Amino acid sequence: MSFFGSRLLLVVAVALPLHAQSRFSVGSASAAPGQKGTGYLEVPAGVDASTNIPVIVINGATPGRVLALVSGAHGTEYSSIIALEKLITELEPAQLSGTVVLLPLVNLPSFEQKVPHVNPVDGKSMNRFYPGKSDGTQTERASYLITKEVVDRCDYLIDYHGGDLDESLRPYAYWAPTGKEAQDRVSKEMVLAFGLDHIIIWRDRPTDPAATRYLDNTASVHGKPSIVVEAGYAGTTETDDIALLVRGTLSAMRALKMLPGEAHPIENPVWLEKIVDVNSDQEGIFYPLVKRGTYVAAGMKLGYVTDFFGKVILEARAPVAGVILHLDAVPSLKKGENIANIGVVAAHAP
Ligand SMILES: [Zn+2]
Repeated sequence: MSFFGSRLLLVVAVALPLHAQSRFSVGSASAAPGQKGTGYLEVPAGVDASTNIPVIVINGATPGRVLALVSGAHGTEYSSIIALEKLITELEPAQLSGTVVLLPLVNLPSFEQKVPHVNPVDGKSMNRFYPGKSDGTQTERASYLITKEVVDRCDYLIDYHGGDLDESLRPYAYWAPTGKEAQDRVSKEMVLAFGLDHIIIWRDRPTDPAATRYLDNTASVHGKPSIVVEAGYAGTTETDDIALLVRGTLSAMRALKMLPGEAHPIENPVWLEKIVDVNSDQEGIFYPLVKRGTYVAAGMKLGYVTDFFGKVILEARAPVAGVILHLDAVPSLKKGENIANIGVVAAHAP
């Protein structure tokens, strides 16, 4: 009797902590295995106001790895935000191995006030201040919390962007090799499975964990395979752009064995080895002559700028041959502003 008694006690003692471990919580969002939970990452007030970042935890019925999906650091890159909103509904815990943590809208003030590029509370881009500071401005405090609560606890990360209100962008992804073979193999598998047909090879990124700047790079320097994907442009939420991001995510999750079924990797993407900025040294009115995705030769005219009296004051020409990744979507142009970004095709696939 005493033998069975102690055995029963042992089973209970082991089973309770295991059960408790499999609940997953981020901020006030918490989900038991097989459940979804919603809540907020609560960024406390500091030198400026507090803010709440929506979080969804989808805890799979089967245990596994943790994937973080983050969008809306730029709160008017709408296609990426809407794509993650769709995934909140489409991802079924019963189908899922592991856990997905979604942050669909990091920069709520930007979304609400329709302010592109920055957090209007402190004027900072919410993808340039990682790993953040607990005593900094709102962007830095939010970045600090995302680093602690999401980056530190995930195994893989995908950061979603797109053309902002004033950017006409064709879809592309970033793959940033670290030189660590095992990690780079997984991140490359993720970016190929995601399936966007143009991939920028992003080298020479910050390696100091205290100054990683970008979200994906923060995960990457901590050994977590991470990619960035971009689709959508100029305030639009087109079905094709959203579908690219939703299907790409599901395919990447299949490659990571978090969902059943086969991934559908892109076989021969266009690899881009660098991005060349074309900026205006004049203020005025911009008139484009090419479109997002146009392939241009070196010297080709991309557009022109007039003063407010209609006189042409600048002809913007391509300094290199390549593909127009994005160009200015609106006539407003300040001195020093970006007119276009050209992706230069890599000589060899990596
Ligand atoms: Zn962005």
